[in-house]
Amino acid sequence: MRKATTLRKIGLMLTVIGVLGAISVGQPVRPKAEDDFQLVKVADGVYAAIAKAGGLASGNAGFIVGDSGVLVVDTFFTPIAAEELIAEIGKVTAQPVKYAVNTHYHLDHTGGNQVFAARNVPIIAQENVLKWQTTKNRRFLPADEELQKRRADAAKQLAETPGDQKDKRTQLERQLSRLDVMLSIKLTNPSVTFNSGVLHLYLGNREVVLITLPGHTGGDTLVYVPDADVVFTGDMGWAKTLPNLVDATVNDWIPSLDKMLSRHGASKFVPGHGEVAGAAEMREFRDYLDDLRSRVKQAIADGLTIEQAKQQLKLPEKYKGFAFQNFAQPNIEDMYKELKGVKQTG
Ligand SMILES: [Zn+2]
Repeated sequence: MRKATTLRKIGLMLTVIGVLGAISVGQPVRPKAEDDFQLVKVADGVYAAIAKAGGLASGNAGFIVGDSGVLVVDTFFTPIAAEELIAEIGKVTAQPVKYAVNTHYHLDHTGGNQVFAARNVPIIAQENVLKWQTTKNRRFLPADEELQKRRADAAKQLAETPGDQKDKRTQLERQLSRLDVMLSIKLTNPSVTFNSGVLHLYLGNREVVLITLPGHTGGDTLVYVPDADVVFTGDMGWAKTLPNLVDATVNDWIPSLDKMLSRHGASKFVPGHGEVAGAAEMREFRDYLDDLRSRVKQAIADGLTIEQAKQQLKLPEKYKGFAFQNFAQPNIEDMYKELKGVKQTG
């Protein structure tokens, strides 16, 4: 009798293991850091986390290891990617994360803030980030009800798609998991702000300098590590990538980049998008903005409307290899509106 009970128990256990096995096969693949970003050592204790296309990081981030703590630059697009970054930091150092910095408010650089807030890590930013983090970011993160609606639509479509339409099913499954990830984002404010100018932080003996410069959003901070001569530019710098100008003031941005390049002509740069770069790539980006401004100025002088300018102005050959080619036409529209004095910023 006892023997029969034991056998039944074993049988039950095997069934449970079998069911768990079946569940784990059916579950979506867990996100992995290597699918979302690549960690690059830029200098001793200075790391860039370069976002991979289609992953959950979206914007670049990075971290600086001192002798009494770690400072994280930007928190990626999603809490999952931010958790992955913390796990990667743990493989490099046993030092605790002491500060996080938001280089600006855009969601692809602040979407993981909640992960740091939950760990009581102060999040530092220029004061406009506090003003815009939970308001203007709504353009990048629709409200939960809207996301739920999109999720239900995608789930319905998936249920109606026959099993042999593999490509369509995969596309819908990706869409669903991306919506789930977006639903996990809770827009979280910085906890320490400063106005403009320079802020010095110390990780033991290592100094990190935050420097505000206008251009990309009006609330932008560069993070400079003097002893390693590395500048994290946030989205003030784009390497071989067309920029997002939705909040930009190009007339401020070009002089800001000139200032940065005159002070940091020999530095290494971790851009907001694109690979780790030198001054040459930052100058190339500065020249893209200058070139865009000249071309759009000429279009306005020739009497072209925004639509005509977008149709007629062709991206110069040298920028055709840049990432984010879909920004080429919006860049013309944003530049046109800025020059006409009708662009909404702030
Ligand atoms: Zn940005």
